[in-house]
Amino acid sequence: MATEQRAVKKAKGPEPVKIVSFSSLTEKVGRFNLRNKTFLIPQMNRIGGHLLAATFRSFGIHAKVMDTYKGLGLGQEYTSGKECYPCQITTGDILYHMKKEKERLGDAFNAEDYVYFMPEADGPCRFGMYNKFQRIVLDTLPDLSRLKIGSLTTKDGYSLRGIIEEEKVRDIRKASYLSVVVADILDRLLWRIRPYEREPGMADEFIERSMRVMEEAFETCGAKKEFDRILDKLEELIEEGKDIIDPAIPRKPLIGIVGEIYLRTHVHANQDVIRVLERYGAEVVNASIAEWVNYTSYDRLREAKIALRLGLKSLRLNSLREHLRSILSYGGELLYQEYRQKQVYRRVRALIDLAEDHKVGHLEKILHEEDLFNFDVGTEACLSIAGIVQYARERFNGVVNVYPFTCMPSTTTSAIIRPLMNRLRIPYLDTPYDSSTQPGREAAIRTFMYQAHQHFKRHGGRFHD
Ligand code: SF4
Repeated sequence: MATEQRAVKKAKGPEPVKIVSFSSLTEKVGRFNLRNKTFLIPQMNRIGGHLLAATFRSFGIHAKVMDTYKGLGLGQEYTSGKECYPCQITTGDILYHMKKEKERLGDAFNAEDYVYFMPEADGPCRFGMYNKFQRIVLDTLPDLSRLKIGSLTTKDGYSLRGIIEEEKVRDIRKASYLSVVVADILDRLLWRIRPYEREPGMADEFIERSMRVMEEAFETCGAKKEFDRILDKLEELIEEGKDIIDPAIPRKPLIGIVGEIYLRTHVHANQDVIRVLERYGAEVVNASIAEWVNYTSYDRLREAKIALRLGLKSLRLNSLREHLRSILSYGGELLYQEYRQKQVYRRVRALIDLAEDHKVGHLEKILHEEDLFNFDVGTEACLSIAGIVQYARERFNGVVNVYPFTCMPSTTTSAIIRPLMNRLRIPYLDTPYDSSTQPGREAAIRTFMYQAHQHFKRHGGRFHD
């Protein structure tokens, strides 16, 4: 090397280390065929994760739900602290699971035998970056760099194309959606019966057992599309669960929960906020998971309609066929999902008065009527803001917004909804969470519940018509 070149190199310093390989973000994050792989599902919502895994197993995919929260220390080690809390937790979950697999299998461990499931959302939010960030972390660990991340995206309404044989895509989607709705129902059943249980612990024990029964039902009947058999089993469980309610205990103030989907459903991450509310005399209804799934289909349909209108206005006729195809596809999906959800709730609500789910079209209408927000902005704020108004209209006695500390859509929700709740004089509480325990949190919940009891005394509730 010429002296001059050496001098230039020295002046520039050492070659930079390549931290991110962009091809890795496309080659090892995406939709992969799951045959002969172990499909690792994170445990956001316990029942939902287990029923989804059972559904996948019924289609011959070796799906497994990972333990959660045990690897939080690892998650914190590999994150900077600026990431959203769910990103820390899920990073820890996958690293912990892999660590345990390596210990279990020793030399036989091969990261290529697994696909780790981490979906994403588009829009002005960081959820779309979790799997990219986790890809970078995995790529820095030599024995995990070949672990693929299976990602479904809201961009195509969580299409399952490519993960299984084409002729089974439609069926696995239908069965998976049913598993989401049934998991929502079991959660709602727990929140309906636990505040009124005859003996402490009965409801938790019953729901845990019910989850196992439904897992078996999905594993046996999911791929065969024997949905009626699955629902028959669910009805049997509801009949049994009803008996846990002690009729001598009067109805309690009803509290609605909205917020960021991961935090509001992950009981470790939200420090079991529902149980704490119940301890201070609440009956709780949390926003459902199916609501988010319906929202993604609804939003894709809405966008396709907008694109069609723009195409017509600007006379870009060659794109019209594609927009029409999208409208038919997303419209069909949404129609099916809403039909199925309604059918399940109708059967269940004939047995017990569980809260019905919100229809996304209705939530958008509420935002227009109240002029509070717009679906064009996107994110969960659309659902949370409208969901709170709907809770108020349904005479709930208070609302809690549960979210990760610094979460953008939930902070937006709080800013928009607080003045309205003050005006309506309905108790409202923000509960941002991270891995620390806030000293005043329980006192805040107790005060909130005091207000909710007052509201219940003065105005009654959903159950007093
Ligand atoms: S919704 Fe909140 S927690 Fe989730 S990625 Fe967006 S900002 Fe982060």
